[in-house]
Amino acid sequence: MIEPLSPPDWVFREDGTPFSPRYDDIYHSASGALGQARHVFLDGNGLPGRWSGRPLFTIVEAGFGQGLNFLATWLAWRSDPHAPARLHFVSLEKHRFPVEDLRALLARHVAYETESSIHRPAHAAGTPGMLEQMVTALCRAWPPPTTGLHRLEFDAGRVVLTLGLGDAPALAAKLRLRADAFFLDGFSPSKNPRMWDPTFFGALARLADEQATLSTYTSAGEVRRNLIAAGFAMRRAPAYGSKREMLVGHFAPRWRVRRHPPPRRAEAARREAIVIGAGMAGCALAERLAARGWHVNLIDQGAGPATAASGNPAGVFHPMITRDEGLAARLSRAGFLYALSYWRALEAAGHPLRWSAQGLFQKSAESDDDARGDTKRGGNGSQDAHPLNDGSAIDQTAPGLPSSIARPVPAGDASALTGVAGDDAGWLFAQGGWIDPVSLCHAQLAAAGARLHTYFSQRVERLEAAQEPAGGWHAIDATGRRIASGAVVILANAHDASRLARLQHAPTESVRGQLTLLPGSLFPTLTIPLIGGAYLTPTADGALTGASYGIGDTRTALDPDEHLENLQRLAALLRTSPVPSGSPASRIAEASAYSPTTPEPPGSATDASASTPFGLDPARMAGRVAFRCVTGDRLPMIGPLGDEETAQARAHALTGAQPLDLPRASGLYGAFGYGSRGLLWSAIGAELIASQIEGEPPPLESDLIDAIDPARFLMRNLRRGKLF
Ligand code: SAM
Repeated sequence: MIEPLSPPDWVFREDGTPFSPRYDDIYHSASGALGQARHVFLDGNGLPGRWSGRPLFTIVEAGFGQGLNFLATWLAWRSDPHAPARLHFVSLEKHRFPVEDLRALLARHVAYETESSIHRPAHAAGTPGMLEQMVTALCRAWPPPTTGLHRLEFDAGRVVLTLGLGDAPALAAKLRLRADAFFLDGFSPSKNPRMWDPTFFGALARLADEQATLSTYTSAGEVRRNLIAAGFAMRRAPAYGSKREMLVGHFAPRWRVRRHPPPRRAEAARREAIVIGAGMAGCALAERLAARGWHVNLIDQGAGPATAASGNPAGVFHPMITRDEGLAARLSRAGFLYALSYWRALEAAGHPLRWSAQGLFQKSAESDDDARGDTKRGGNGSQDAHPLNDGSAIDQTAPGLPSSIARPVPAGDASALTGVAGDDAGWLFAQGGWIDPVSLCHAQLAAAGARLHTYFSQRVERLEAAQEPAGGWHAIDATGRRIASGAVVILANAHDASRLARLQHAPTESVRGQLTLLPGSLFPTLTIPLIGGAYLTPTADGALTGASYGIGDTRTALDPDEHLENLQRLAALLRTSPVPSGSPASRIAEASAYSPTTPEPPGSATDASASTPFGLDPARMAGRVAFRCVTGDRLPMIGPLGDEETAQARAHALTGAQPLDLPRASGLYGAFGYGSRGLLWSAIGAELIASQIEGEPPPLESDLIDAIDPARFLMRNLRRGKLF
């Protein structure tokens, strides 16, 4: 369990340097913070020289603070014509500055740099205004104070900051990456021994590339000895400002073989991928891979993108919250935050979306009989049937999340937020909302640009391994014709993924979902989505509610009975204790066509519909049927596929296997089993797979990556001896 975050305590010393009373140390040298960053960390790691011409360079920092080392590194990257194509900076920080403090502190450095830049070479200072622009971008992307990894992308994604909020040693144990350089900047070892302890250094050694370097401003003997014991060759070097010595070193382990060497970029003769499935999962992959220079062959049996479950007129998005910060809560929060910034970046790049992130209200499950009913329907992972997928209801005691993520709403306040009747207590997800997934798919394909080749109305019958030496795969249709080839294949085609990859240990089931489109006039005042035992969301041109949950039901036609169930659940969602007339809730109820105190609006109802909720006739309602692909544990399948044949042959040796021990099917990845949560999983899933293919630091901690590993069922079966 990661320790909760606490904000920094800091004050200015007389000389103007920020100081931490908690750690009894200064944040940076009084002789100039950016100068210190350049000397200790850039020069100390042979940068920028060591990164010259590399496709990827990864730096891991302990102690992000105000981000001065990051800014100095980014400035050096921008000013270097031979800079790596992609710079990853992964930094771990326990005491995140509130954004106003960060902005104010960094403004001082911008002013100082501007004044003193005439004395510095251009490669160090950047062009006038550059630092200020970077600070603005950093503050704009600054993540909320929630634990875990946060992905921030700058300069069209070529500079990626992965900010790990939490205790550095605990987070380092959950990193899965290959580091080229380490910046150790965690206050004085005598005041903050936690940041310098041998197990932390052991975790860093596990991440080190064979050529990795390391530097730190401290010269403490114990730090030096602990780093040497962890496998680094260390020496003293001249320090910065009034300090005499610091430590620099490089990875020089006495042992050559690591049980799990850090990940590296897959060797591909050509950077060409096949993505099967042009729904949300596949379109996000096409974009994320194309952004990294891959040519993408996107194949779908539909006549265009988003013809299956991603073709619904709107879907709602919000993170899950649970009392215990479990895997589902952490994963969904990571997916939610990444999707939000990714969608905003798509729009900023000129690819408009139909959506709104103005908030989403979740009725408290504790007071929601219907949500409990839905749990009985299968304790399912259906976003539209029940907001939580781990069976635990939220209540007003859920963890102290920042209000920018979720805040409790007391009974009586909801209708003023949602614009419709219903005044139970619940939660407001201030940045939650709804999006038209079709617009999202189109935006992603447009962003993928000329590197994308689409093959619509073509069904992949089987995959065929290409012959050495080039390797890779061919996608073959039912007539034996080759549709396209690629070095890697990503199966983003829901139910059909296991068949194509011939997986026996990746169980998914198909769950029919029918949603009901509502006349725009029914809820004219609805502003934001409302969820509980059902959901009600605005769309680009009306509103919709849903969805039914038919496990194994393969019918494709609209069913009036399911419309009726949807409407009944919607009525229950909006049902509330009568509110006094004249209150904000009652005024909204009057403005809505439906009022909790007058369940059937007069007028429009036909005889058949007189007793149905809202007076609507289910036989004449519009809607849409789609099929969710749901896994046994309700988490998605994202990542490299297992090689089941090899695992079977080595089953005895693999009984105690960890995910990294499992044999993998060369070049095959899965992105399916998204259930009703395609909006949460598609962006982060695509970023994760693209990072795995490229050997980049992933956007998730290793326990979360393992929780969605498509080979997890194979591993569980190996452990239970089921493959013998
Ligand atoms: N590198 C920073 C910069 O460029 O602005 C300065 C870092 S400051 C000297 C040390 C940082 O370590 C502080 O921001 C502090 O909050 C952080 N820190 C202290 N203990 C930590 C821990 N256990 N885990 C993560 N960060 C920690």
